[in-house]
Amino acid sequence: MDYDDVVIGAGHNGLTAAAYLARAGRRVLVLEAADHVGGAAVSAQAFPGVDARVSRYSYLVSLLPRQVLSDLDLDLRLVRRRFSSYTPVPGRPELGLLVDQGDPAATAAAFASVTGRPDEHAAWQDFYGRVQRLAQRVFPTVLEPLRSEAELAERVGDAELWESLVRRPLGEVLERQFGDDTVRGVVATDALIGTFADLHGADLRQNVCFLYHLIGGGTGDWDVPVGGMGALTDALARAAVEAGAQLVTGARVTAVDPDGRVSWETGSARASVVHAACAPTVLNGLLAAAGAAPVDTEPAPEGAQLKVNMLLSRLPRLRDASVDPAAAFAGTFHVNEGYRQLQDAYAAAADGRVPQVPPCEIYCHSLSDRSILGPELAATDAQTLTLFGLHLPARLFSGTQEERDEVKDLALARTLESLGSVLAEPIQDVLLRDPDGAYCLEARTPVELEAELGLPGGNIFHRSLQWPWAESEGEVGTWGVETRHDRVRLAGAGARRGGGVSGIPGHNAARSVLGT
Ligand SMILES: Cc1cc2nc3c(=O)[nH]c(=O)nc-3n(C[C@H](O)[C@H](O)[C@H](O)COP(=O)(O)OP(=O)(O)OC[C@H]3O[C@@H](n4cnc5c(N)ncnc54)[C@H](O)[C@@H]3O)c2cc1C
Repeated sequence: MDYDDVVIGAGHNGLTAAAYLARAGRRVLVLEAADHVGGAAVSAQAFPGVDARVSRYSYLVSLLPRQVLSDLDLDLRLVRRRFSSYTPVPGRPELGLLVDQGDPAATAAAFASVTGRPDEHAAWQDFYGRVQRLAQRVFPTVLEPLRSEAELAERVGDAELWESLVRRPLGEVLERQFGDDTVRGVVATDALIGTFADLHGADLRQNVCFLYHLIGGGTGDWDVPVGGMGALTDALARAAVEAGAQLVTGARVTAVDPDGRVSWETGSARASVVHAACAPTVLNGLLAAAGAAPVDTEPAPEGAQLKVNMLLSRLPRLRDASVDPAAAFAGTFHVNEGYRQLQDAYAAAADGRVPQVPPCEIYCHSLSDRSILGPELAATDAQTLTLFGLHLPARLFSGTQEERDEVKDLALARTLESLGSVLAEPIQDVLLRDPDGAYCLEARTPVELEAELGLPGGNIFHRSLQWPWAESEGEVGTWGVETRHDRVRLAGAGARRGGGVSGIPGHNAARSVLGT
């Protein structure tokens, strides 16, 4: 059977591409290996017999342009959070920094008391003000053909900031701008989510990651998807199917010929264009199976996070009795993410060891949206907690299954200990149990995420993030999705300007075919 477009992978990007292409009247086939759609953007009942549907992998939305929602008539509600973050001071957990967007005076007072530095809050406002002006100029370009770095730098018009964020290791500007270790750490975490990097690393991967975490929507806000991440995927799947796209789950693609022939376990089809919404290294395996040359990508991507989902009977009490847990957990709750702690954890992991005190951050979905809990749970004080542990790279979880399990147990135990250091009671005391008596807690290492989702090395962005502009003359004016094979496009997170829940590469792959 012939199609205009075959899309490999029904993650949110594959679905985005399919919806745009089908709406333009093209014949579209989407092939998904799993028995369900969504990839890393799903809501799932993670605990057997417990009526709660958590965002199992990705959980917050920032990089999804509102244009994609309106173009595709997607009914998705996003909730903006009042509290950005809460951070217990490393080593002094009875004191913490609460950043409250709704009360600038209280935030300023918290900066003064936590840091003892009268200028630290002003430095923070100055820095984020400048970064936001950059975001407002860069983000609107992500759904357009690529511009050169020089053009974007000129558009931003802040040469000093550009030099600090784009040309020099991020650690330098953080150390110049902020005097306090806790504040430096809070800022630095955005450079390390899903990215195993030294803040002074010369390859600047931390800088690219930082930029992606700050430019979303031109504000850098991270919003809560009502109904969990699956609500976005469901809306996209509906949009694609209603527009006429054919969606087949349980269809693992096994080979891609650059002439447009796509084979899967039980069939094959020919397409004018193949959109690979799987990772580029996965695509390379599929091309190799057809005897074709690989597309350009980094050889061995690696993820570095421990993802833990939990369900609690109530929020735990904090060592810092002055802050309401409902405020502390409403934004990003940073645990042992001081600047020095982040660097120490990186050094330990780079040296092949599980960090003694793994830095991690936590977010509570159910404080913003209780629709993910069934009616009985929703009527109680129950809350979900999502923990994202940093600096636990896939390389630590190698060896036999037994060895991997041992390292996972160690990483999880140390991470829960790390969390416990800022709580006034053991987390186990508030963890709910499923009908079989097991704790409502699930954890995933990068290696497990690779097996479950096909993320190479467990990298949550499919590969290291790339600057959102052309890095060579030849790339200017392209969509950042093209490959050496005319009929094969990247439509997933591994495209330039991919990574995160954004729909951007899906949109751009479709546009590369449809034109602007
Ligand atoms: C634990 C975790 C937390 C995260 N948190 C956030 C967050 O809060 N916010 C955010 O913006 N981003 C977050 N991310 C990143 C984000 O989820 C991903 O970058 C994004 O979902 C990738 O979307 P995608 O559609 O490009 O690819 P994926 O979601 O990876 O989907 C690819 C699909 O292709 C399918 N596939 C692979 N190989 C084949 C094949 N051979 N044949 C057929 N199908 C195939 C897979 O089964 C999968 O369904 C997180 C990711 C993880 C893992």
